[in-house]
Amino acid sequence: MGRAGEHDGAAVGRVSEIVTQEGVIAWLRAFAVAVAQNRAYLTDLDAAIGDADHGSNMDRGMQAAVGKLDVLGEPGEAGEAGEPSQGDIGALLKTVGMTLVSTVGGAAGPLYGTLFLQMGSAAGQAAELSPAQWAVVLGAGVKGVQARGKAELEDKTMVDALLPAAEALSAAAASGLSLADALRRAAEAAERGMKATIPLVARKGRASYLGERSAGHQDPGATSSWLLMEAAVEALALDALPERPGT
Ligand code: ADP
Ligand code: MG
Repeated sequence: MGRAGEHDGAAVGRVSEIVTQEGVIAWLRAFAVAVAQNRAYLTDLDAAIGDADHGSNMDRGMQAAVGKLDVLGEPGEAGEAGEPSQGDIGALLKTVGMTLVSTVGGAAGPLYGTLFLQMGSAAGQAAELSPAQWAVVLGAGVKGVQARGKAELEDKTMVDALLPAAEALSAAAASGLSLADALRRAAEAAERGMKATIPLVARKGRASYLGERSAGHQDPGATSSWLLMEAAVEALALDALPERPGT
């Protein structure tokens, strides 16, 4: 199995130059793990300027999404028999988006849902995407978030992490960086954007009700978006699920 020739003999192994279905599944799983591990942190951030539910909202949604992926994904076995792919990249992303919309209340569920739904539409039925194509996919998702939530940069929302990340990814891909390096640039941009939310006064979402008192706190949604970009660094450039040594 696998794509012809790409990694033949490369003992360094499973770093992919392209985004694959397996990579997308690994990314979504890694994000779910990161959200679960940071559930209390995200909720504490939301307690300061919101209603203390961002960690539990995202955790509930991503657990449900991963449950759907377990059914949909199953890479390897089905494809072996020449059956059509059970989950092209677009279908995977749309499944996650619909699951988030239907399981997560509040602002973040529909917004993250839109992110993944729009990414899924842009990815279409592709089974593999180049870094530049992936940047277009992420950019489409972020556009969707902005269209739905009407947030601009510096409104102190997830857009402050997502938009710079999408732009950095696009620039990195255009300059020919490897997928792994481009994803790292995106995560770094997301981290800068997240930290830059601290002094801002919120202009969108629940935190905006606090007015000036929202300043001095990091935005929870920008923080989960940074986790999403970090999860990509960790997992999206994986070419295959871990194999046993020697196989
Ligand atoms: P709620 O605010 O309904 O309790 P969450 O706590 O799960 O929902 O999510 C809050 C996060 O949602 C905020 O930290 C912010 O990043 C994001 N958010 C809220 N409104 C918007 C919006 N209009 N556009 C983009 N992001 C938003
Ligand atoms: Mg909240």
